Amino acid sequence: MIVAGRTLAGAVSWDADVVVVGTGAGGAPLGHALTQAGKSVVFLEAGPRVLDAEMNQRVPDMLARLYWDRGARVTTNGAFTVSQGRCVGGSTVHYTAWAMRPPRPILDHWTYHLKLTELDAKTIDPFVETVEKMLSTRPVQPHEVNAHNHLIERGANELGLRGGFVHHNRVGCLGCGYCLLGCAYNRKQTAANTFLPAAIGLGARLVSDAHVERVLTRGARVEGVRARLLDGGHGEVGTLTVRAPVVVLAAGTIHTPALLVRSGIGDASGQVGRNLVFHTTTTLFGLFDEEVAAHRGFSPSYVVDHAMDLERYPDRGYYLVPAFAAPAAIAPFLPGFGDDHATKMRAYKRLAGLSVMLHDASRGRVTVAPNGKPVIEYALAPEDRGQLVEGMIAAGRLLFAAGAKEVYPSSPGGMAFTSPDQLDYLTSFAHLENRVALNTPHPQGTCRMGEMRQTSVVDPWGRSHDVAGLYVSDMSVFPTSVAVPPSITTMALALRTARHLLATA
Ligand SMILES: Cc1cc2nc3c(=O)[nH]c(=O)nc-3n(C[C@H](O)[C@H](O)[C@H](O)COP(=O)(O)OP(=O)(O)OC[C@H]3O[C@@H](n4cnc5c(N)ncnc54)[C@H](O)[C@@H]3O)c2cc1C
Repeated sequence: MIVAGRTLAGAVSWDADVVVVGTGAGGAPLGHALTQAGKSVVFLEAGPRVLDAEMNQRVPDMLARLYWDRGARVTTNGAFTVSQGRCVGGSTVHYTAWAMRPPRPILDHWTYHLKLTELDAKTIDPFVETVEKMLSTRPVQPHEVNAHNHLIERGANELGLRGGFVHHNRVGCLGCGYCLLGCAYNRKQTAANTFLPAAIGLGARLVSDAHVERVLTRGARVEGVRARLLDGGHGEVGTLTVRAPVVVLAAGTIHTPALLVRSGIGDASGQVGRNLVFHTTTTLFGLFDEEVAAHRGFSPSYVVDHAMDLERYPDRGYYLVPAFAAPAAIAPFLPGFGDDHATKMRAYKRLAGLSVMLHDASRGRVTVAPNGKPVIEYALAPEDRGQLVEGMIAAGRLLFAAGAKEVYPSSPGGMAFTSPDQLDYLTSFAHLENRVALNTPHPQGTCRMGEMRQTSVVDPWGRSHDVAGLYVSDMSVFPTSVAVPPSITTMALALRTARHLLATA
């Protein structure tokens, strides 16, 4: 059963074995596994359920329906946008479906260096395989690679940079290119069209437009949660209390710590909300003579990974990732004003986009404002600033090597380079914050796993150190940046937490 919050007006109370807060990569697989095992599961999701037929591919409409704060959530310094999904299926609904396994050196780092029990590849691999089967993960096929990705491959080969074709989660993709606004054709495999319908089919209940305000506790035991039922706009129609002996928070890296703080849980250790880590991302655009039509097909298919050497450096590196989007999403990142900007936008079909995606060493923090909303602090550590500049120069050189006539960083200041030599100018920036547009699609780490309550929020299976029956299952549990697109890791850890929960709760 899936119902919208507005259909449950008044003060409603339900009972369940398990309540799962959030329906994205962390919540959906875990809820499915518990339902499969015979538990009565209730999912609560703050955002709406958006059907394929409603994915109209219009930027303002879909940002408003699928993303928190219409995709414009920013850090306190105004420098980073933080993109996160707010709908049934969470951020997987608008993800690009690039599938990567957790890298073995990162799992080794977590297991042997940070001493987290049973996180080695041998233990995690079976969960990863289950996730990949559910999402129909497969390598990109040659006929699926668009001109944009071929062009990036050409530039990489020209410079001798290592790269390769990726795996992804799509079945029968039509190549419309609107992945970031949700798949109108139901071809992209997400939490919303795999784990969730499977769980609902087995009897789980899901309430959308139900914003969980508080975790309810009695002494040191969890009792359930209380949610505000939203009418789909800004109004509220009632409250839903779900009483359950097990509560799983899967509200994502920004909202899970906020919910814990609002509920007065974890104050003693002072760890909740700390250890925030981004995959800081910035995009450079190249202008070509020929049509690229980067908006068609799916990006990324070909990724450059010459700067990633996790065996030797498990805590640094970056990827160069082809990235593009609809005109209204590209326009704010191109330089110039008035006629100059309009000229660049008219060349939209001749543009290529290449993002630098960092494996950050920086650490930020999520706190909570007096109105209960999360506040996000993040600034680049000097070593990350250096890596990002290095990555931007490498991306610019690659675009020139592929044949670009001009290269534009995403900069409100309107920089445009006409030759690779000019790219060194980027090294003169003392700060990148507010000089170039920075984004994170992958915030992680605010409720990190650990053996000791002084330095972590949950144990290595996602169990709260403070409250019995309370678990966390989302990207917030990562102890460090996972270095790769994180949804497969999040889902695999969710299945591992579910198995542990069934064995012990
Ligand atoms: C633009 C973009 C592209 C991406 N592309 C890729 C990719 O190609 N490959 C990849 O592996 N990863 C990608 N990701 C990342 C991936 O989507 C996330 O890693 C993953 O979905 C995170 O899972 P999660 O469970 O932590 O959070 P989410 O999936 O975001 O789920 C959290 C859910 O909790 C809900 N929620 C929050 N607060 C509350 C509350 N108080 N009450 C009830 N519900 C609440 C939210 O609305 C949301 O639906 C991308 C992300 C973005 C933003």
